[in-house]
Amino acid sequence: MILRRLGFLGYRLHRKDLPGRPDIAFINKRKAIMIHGCFWHGHDCKTGLREPKSNRDYWLPKIQRTRERDIQHHAALNELGWAMLTIWECELKDMETLTAKLLSFMEST
Ligand SMILES: [Zn+2]
Repeated sequence: MILRRLGFLGYRLHRKDLPGRPDIAFINKRKAIMIHGCFWHGHDCKTGLREPKSNRDYWLPKIQRTRERDIQHHAALNELGWAMLTIWECELKDMETLTAKLLSFMEST
């Protein structure tokens, strides 16, 4: 895991007691990281903007609801004093940018 390589240890995975069950949570630092699939979470990228070929009436409202839930989870975490970073699936391919993004998030106060 890239976080371990960058020297960020002591995180917990999928904490059920936090809004949205963040994929990664640093309890002491109050920083949470969510890794989102571009299609399911409606990312503003090539994959996320791809229209479902079948069952559009099913998928589009479903993706919309997921997006709304993400926004609510983000707000709920902020209210609890947590900072949250969203990592998109498509960003996992570019290690350099991903590393920079993680570093700036983890080093911000
Ligand atoms: Zn994406």
